[in-house]
Amino acid sequence: MKVDHLIGGKTVAGTNYFETVNPATQDVLAEVAAGGEAEVNAAVAAAKEAFPKWAGLPAPQRAKIVRKLGELIAAHVPDIARTETDDTGQVISQTGKQLVPRAADNFSYFAEMCVRVDGHTYPTDTHLNYTLFHPVGVCALISPWNVPFMTSTWKVAPCLAFGNTAVLKMSELSPLTAARLGELALEAGVPAGVLNLVHGYGKDAGEPLVKHPDVRAISFTGSTATGNRIVKEAGLKKFSMELGGKSPFVVFDDANLDRALDAAVFMIFSNNGERCTAGSRILVQKSIYADFAKRFAERAKKIVVGDPQDEKTIIGPMISQGHLAKVRSYIELGTREGATLLCGGLDAPLVPDRVKRGNYVLPTVFADVDNRMKIAQDEIFGPVACLIPFDDEADAVRIANDIDYGLSSYVFTENIGRAHRVAAQIEAGMCFVNSQNVRDLRQPFGGTKASGTGREGGTWSYEVFLEPKNIAVSL
Ligand code: NAD
Repeated sequence: MKVDHLIGGKTVAGTNYFETVNPATQDVLAEVAAGGEAEVNAAVAAAKEAFPKWAGLPAPQRAKIVRKLGELIAAHVPDIARTETDDTGQVISQTGKQLVPRAADNFSYFAEMCVRVDGHTYPTDTHLNYTLFHPVGVCALISPWNVPFMTSTWKVAPCLAFGNTAVLKMSELSPLTAARLGELALEAGVPAGVLNLVHGYGKDAGEPLVKHPDVRAISFTGSTATGNRIVKEAGLKKFSMELGGKSPFVVFDDANLDRALDAAVFMIFSNNGERCTAGSRILVQKSIYADFAKRFAERAKKIVVGDPQDEKTIIGPMISQGHLAKVRSYIELGTREGATLLCGGLDAPLVPDRVKRGNYVLPTVFADVDNRMKIAQDEIFGPVACLIPFDDEADAVRIANDIDYGLSSYVFTENIGRAHRVAAQIEAGMCFVNSQNVRDLRQPFGGTKASGTGREGGTWSYEVFLEPKNIAVSL
């Protein structure tokens, strides 16, 4: 199978192609067009040309098309989910029941929102100020490989609904479902040039896209290293930077332990641990630490590692052999740094024959981790949990904040005052109290510190996809 670019409503063949591989089997799934500056220039030109007409369409008409795209995704959940699972190794129970349905919701949600965009008024004795929100223009949307369909639609839906046009670049490791998105967009009636798709590597396709002078806004999700680079290279543009994380999951001794254990296991091992909001530093109060560690490791040992297309599988293969090597190198490092390996490690998991060549790693739990160890400070982005003991509330907050990142956080306690105090003090864009990560599309999603700038979701998406204009009328 060949996957080509989508530029100006037409598929455009590549001059070169690269292979995308199923990480569970190593089978080649498709040959994908490897774009560069020429394709980026053509896609930005198509987006620029399409912009005035799309932006000028009354919002209810745009909403109708955007809603239709969501409906088409909803009608194709099983096949999109299967493709996503083949391309990424994310397990089918997640792609089929959570991630692809959420992608459809992204369109229905922003279709509804775009007809409700209003402004503000600031009357004075001499002037009436009011705001208008205009679409920004051509937006570069850049997605990582971990949950690519959900992430790309989280960008495409508000971008298009608010009247912008887009050039989408997926990760070279997981381009397939976005290609399907391009087809469905045309079927839904998205006009030619409004959504363009250039495939390729970051250096070849991503870099010219973010540098392009006609691109007005960049919505990027990916690593902190790439985010930093883009901010330096892109020049003066609007940015939304959704970057890496190493989020604290804090369990106090008065917590509902069963609830905390369920959520802790979910937040580090679901999505293969390849999750930006993973609760990868699990801070546990010393009085319950030994008991929690034992029970956490018991649960981790029972996790089914295997064929991602099997509904029972919880952990599928890592996205690539290179990423597997990185995750394994951190497991090796953890032992060298003096952490205690409670389960997992470097042994190969037993998996079914169909996937025996897959990029597998066992769910791994390190106890007695010092927060200054590299396994606690670096984003491993795999199923590796670090259990860190703490003394009291102040110690928990100190350790939680002793990190470059600030994406998400989790606090488990039955003490309501403590819950609010700690949630307020943790340096992160989001804090979930007595809960795993649960998304409402209205809430501001994003991080602080090295986890990024800007927020997306609900009216927070105005920040990147709409331009406010103040009009002051003399009275
Ligand atoms: P990455 O930074 O390597 O790549 C992300 C995207 O950027 C890819 O499409 C890549 O091709 C492109 N790219 C690379 N170099 C570029 C350049 N110079 N200019 C423009 N584009 C370029 O990240 P990844 O390995 O694909 O994804 C994993 C990372 O994403 C993790 O750090 C994870 O935490 C983060 N992530 C963050 C969120 C969030 O919402 N905060 C969500 C998912 C993933």
